[in-house]
Amino acid sequence: MRELRRPAAWHYCLAAAPITIALYYLLVAGDQWAPGQVALYVSANTVFSISALVAARRHKPMRRILYLLSASGAAGVVGDVVFYIGALVHGEPPYPGPADLFYLAAYPLMAIGLLLIVRRRTPGWNSASIIDASIVAIGAGYLIFLFLIVPNIDFEDRFTSLTSVAYPIGDLMLMVVGARLMLGAGPRTTALRFIGGYLLLVLFADSVYGIQSLNGTYHGGNFLDAFWMAASFVMAAAVLHPSAPQLVTASSTATPDATPGRLAVLAIAAITAPTSTVVQHYLGNKEHLVAAAVVCNIVFLLVMLRMAGLVRAQRMAAITDGLTGLRTRRYFEEALTNEGDRTNWYGVPFGMLLLDIDHFKHVNDTFGHNGGDRVLVEVTHRLRSLVRPGDVVARYGGEEFAVLLPDTGPEEAREIAERVRRGVCVAPIAVGETRLHQVTVSVGVAGMPAAGSTSELVLAADRALYAAKNAGRNQVASAHSPTPVASGLAA
Ligand code: GH3
Ligand code: MG
Ligand code: MG
Repeated sequence: MRELRRPAAWHYCLAAAPITIALYYLLVAGDQWAPGQVALYVSANTVFSISALVAARRHKPMRRILYLLSASGAAGVVGDVVFYIGALVHGEPPYPGPADLFYLAAYPLMAIGLLLIVRRRTPGWNSASIIDASIVAIGAGYLIFLFLIVPNIDFEDRFTSLTSVAYPIGDLMLMVVGARLMLGAGPRTTALRFIGGYLLLVLFADSVYGIQSLNGTYHGGNFLDAFWMAASFVMAAAVLHPSAPQLVTASSTATPDATPGRLAVLAIAAITAPTSTVVQHYLGNKEHLVAAAVVCNIVFLLVMLRMAGLVRAQRMAAITDGLTGLRTRRYFEEALTNEGDRTNWYGVPFGMLLLDIDHFKHVNDTFGHNGGDRVLVEVTHRLRSLVRPGDVVARYGGEEFAVLLPDTGPEEAREIAERVRRGVCVAPIAVGETRLHQVTVSVGVAGMPAAGSTSELVLAADRALYAAKNAGRNQVASAHSPTPVASGLAA
């Protein structure tokens, strides 16, 4: 029989949302006892604020962040209580009034809390995330600025105007930090998705509220309360969700993937300014051409910057081996062609080493694929320290490495090959937590101009490697000397 799992605290938060909201609107519709309405409305933020405190006790490493989030919820609760007391005492609560102080305080508290999460997820400077977040923030910020901030600026009544402008500025702040959080790298957990949901609900409700207030259609207890209440319950679920501690887990990759969803969000953000100008034009409203043009230009430059980053990352991925971080075979062949040209034009000699780990199959068979990978990484490390700064080291195949030695004659190439062979087997390699394994390599050496052409050079190095293997492994063999020089294991 399937075991029924007990619902967790965050389930209760999500379930409480529709019930509380439905009860709230029942009281609103019935024009019932106002304190009941207030209590139900306030319960949403109270649940969030307390949930964050509970979570802070559980997850010590993110205690400071959770206190900030809790304080943001508490500021909302106090604001509501002050507002309704004002309404009971004065009939019509004053605007701006003391409640606004608390409502407004909720924004920076939440924004700082989210910003601290961002810092913990991506501690370093990550240009891709910042560019993506900037594009979204500029696109949506343009709309908030034009439709919610500018119309509220009133130089006659500065105090009221300042308060009305402060709300959309608070939204702008949440939007910027929210975009950075949602578009940055780091684990995409359920808790993070809940925070995304919270931001969407709050920003939507705040924006509609702003527009309704401006055109005089807002009235208390309309559908927007459902969004604000739901947002608080979703945020409560976010902090209580088992994945909440992973919110501050540092990302393993610095750059987020360019997924179709992300590109769609960026595309929509990028076209908001020009589209809104066209819409305003056809509605017969004033188009803010200069503002739209400035926003378009900045967004375009940001997109170009992002593209340059993607192209660079693409190029790096094509020339870098995933496991060892060495150059790929493709890059090596390009470098080989360049060196070949230099030899043909100026007669500059160069050498090439082809290395193959001896009995590597045995390593995999005995210590598993992971053990084999550790050997590859350690051999890479040793190889890098054994060659000179200008030499090109590439992973040529599975357990084969190639080294390009510019400006190097046959004698010197052979000396380097011998140094590499001895250096790689200088000490056993850790293949597990406690297990060591002695690894050796066979090396084939070839050089230009002796080989004639670069393709002949590769064949010659390969043949020399084959000769070194045949001569008993752990050897260096030169393409241009008749027999490989044997070198013992202990050498
Ligand atoms: P020899 O001394 O003749 O070179 O013997 P060998 O066992 O080293 O040669 P062989 O070419 O038969 O084996 C190479 C093995 O390398 C086979 C393949 O499974 C393994 N291999 C290739 N790429 C990787 C890798 O990325 N990781 C690991 N762990 N093994 C790999
Ligand atoms: Mg091998
Ligand atoms: Mg091989």
